[in-house]
Amino acid sequence: MGYARSGNPTWAALEDVLGALEGGRAVAFGSGMAAVSAILDPLPEQAVVVVPRHAYSGTLALLDQLGSQRAFDVRRVDIADTEQTGAALDGAHLLWIESPTNPMLEVADLPALFSTARRLGVRSCADNTFATPLNQQPLALGADAVVHSLTKLLAGHSDVLLGAVVTREDRVYEQAVAHRTLRGAIPGPVEAWIALRGIRTLHLRLDRAQQNAGILAERLAGHAAVGRVRYPGLAGDPGHARAAAQMNGFGSIISIELADGVAAADHLCRSTSLWLPATSLGGVESTLERRRRWPDESPTVPDSLVRLSVGIEDVEDLWADLEQALPL
Ligand SMILES: *Cc1c(COP(=O)(O)O)cnc(C)c1O
Repeated sequence: MGYARSGNPTWAALEDVLGALEGGRAVAFGSGMAAVSAILDPLPEQAVVVVPRHAYSGTLALLDQLGSQRAFDVRRVDIADTEQTGAALDGAHLLWIESPTNPMLEVADLPALFSTARRLGVRSCADNTFATPLNQQPLALGADAVVHSLTKLLAGHSDVLLGAVVTREDRVYEQAVAHRTLRGAIPGPVEAWIALRGIRTLHLRLDRAQQNAGILAERLAGHAAVGRVRYPGLAGDPGHARAAAQMNGFGSIISIELADGVAAADHLCRSTSLWLPATSLGGVESTLERRRRWPDESPTVPDSLVRLSVGIEDVEDLWADLEQALPL
C-alpha cells in the first residue's frame, strides 16, 4: 500500500461490509457526492445521460455542470414511467436511477429498466441511499453500479459525511479506485470507523424507523391539513405495488403537501420541537424540511412539500409533535 491515500485497513473493513450488503465490491469515498462524481466524471464528451427529473439536487447540479462543459445530452425523465424512460435510453451512455426518488418518492420499475439498459448496451447506476441495501439490492436486480451517501441511513447518526460505490464489474471498480486515489476524495479513517459502528445497528434502526413511518403516513393521510401524502407503503400510493414487489420495506422518508400551501408548510417546520428542521436525513432523530426553500430544488416539486425523515423515537411522541404543529 505504501500511502494512506491509496488504501488503509479501516476503509477495507468498511468496504468488506458494504460489499457484502450490496453483493459486490465497494470503494469508500469522503462523501456521497464524491461517490456520485466517481461515476459521472469519467463520462465522455457529448455523453447521453438519462436521469430522473426528481433526484438528489447535488447530482442534478453536477450533471448540469459537467453537461455544459462537455456538451452532455441530459435527458430528464419521469422515472416511474417505464415506457418514457425506456425510449430515452436509445443511444444513451448511462442510466442514472433513484428509487424511491428524493423528495417525490416515485418508484421506478428497476428490473425492467436495468434489463432494457443492458439490452441496449447502456450502463446503469442506482443511488440506493433512500432504500439502503436492506430494503433493495440494485446489483441483484441488474444494475452495473450502486452509489451511497453513507452520511444518511447507513452511518445513521448525522455525525459523518461518507460515500461509496459498489459494483460487480472490474472495470467500474478499478475506475472508482483510480478516481479516488488521483482526485483525493478519500474518507477519513475515523469516519470509516464511525460508519462501521453505525452499520451494526442498521437493521434495528431501519425496522423501527419504517414501522414509525408506516403509522405516521396513515395518520397524515387522514388529517384535514394534509393535501397529499407520498409514501410507497400506503396502499393508495402510485408506487405501492412496485415497491412491494422489489423492496423488503418501504423506507423511512415521507413527503407531504400541506392543503394550505407554503405558509402552513413553513409554520409546520417552525413549530415542532421533537422533529428538527434540517436538510439531512436518515439519522436516528426525526427531521423535516420544506424542500423548495432551496432555490436549486426542482420547480416541479410542489411549493408546500415537506419531506419528513422519520427516526427511531416513540411514534406517539412523533405524532403528538406533528399534530400540534399542523393547522386544525
Ligand atoms: C445526501 C445524498 C447524497 C449526497 O451525499 P453526501 O454524503 O451529502 O455528499 C446523494 N444522494 C442522495 C439520495 C442523498 O440523499
